[in-house]
Amino acid sequence: MASCFFRTFPINRGATKSLSFNYFLRYYASCPRCWKCSSEGSKDKFFCSSCGVLLKVAKHENYFALLDVAKRYNVDLVALKKNFRSIQNQIHPDKFAQQTPEEKQLALEWSALINKAYKTLTKSVDRSQYLLELQGITISEDNSHIDQSFLIDMMDLNESIDEARDSEQLQQLKARIENLIQNQTQDIEQSFQADDLERAKQSVIRLKYLINIESKTKAKVLQQSLQTK
Ligand SMILES: [Zn+2]
Repeated sequence: MASCFFRTFPINRGATKSLSFNYFLRYYASCPRCWKCSSEGSKDKFFCSSCGVLLKVAKHENYFALLDVAKRYNVDLVALKKNFRSIQNQIHPDKFAQQTPEEKQLALEWSALINKAYKTLTKSVDRSQYLLELQGITISEDNSHIDQSFLIDMMDLNESIDEARDSEQLQQLKARIENLIQNQTQDIEQSFQADDLERAKQSVIRLKYLINIESKTKAKVLQQSLQTK
């Protein structure tokens, strides 16, 4: 069996110096060895090209690569959904009911990972946060990174929701929040386009706040509509 490295590693003689050790490691890590027949360099992400079993779960692979879409904020949502369905169709645990316990377990693990990847990439806020994380930028759960004027605005908004007495007031607030969410989403898109990750981070923090307030408002709208029935 030809090894993965010698068979497929893209050696460019003119550019040997530019092939960093990290690149080699990344490439080699993405070239899994089959747990059953030991062959390497399967052309398929999920199945061994030699013996056909489900491969071990590639936890290191980023969600964009996993679902075969370009790694960017403006992800192709149609392709994302299509690829997700096609992969789930191949690896769904139901398909492995007659297989070995090892493969059943792997199908469960793959399925969970693919679901998580899809969920993360579908929602704008989660996709943004994930893109930032891939660049080493994390968002803490405390308020330490948020500007004070935004925080004060949010406190005012929260107060207005608490004090809203009729559905008209609530609907107005809901519309205002939706508008703010739209603005932040646009700002995130522009920040990623400009490769301004710090600005993207600030907008993601704001968007998360607004989404929380939006769900609080929706809950109150629902509560009110139940009361008036
Ligand atoms: Zn195999």
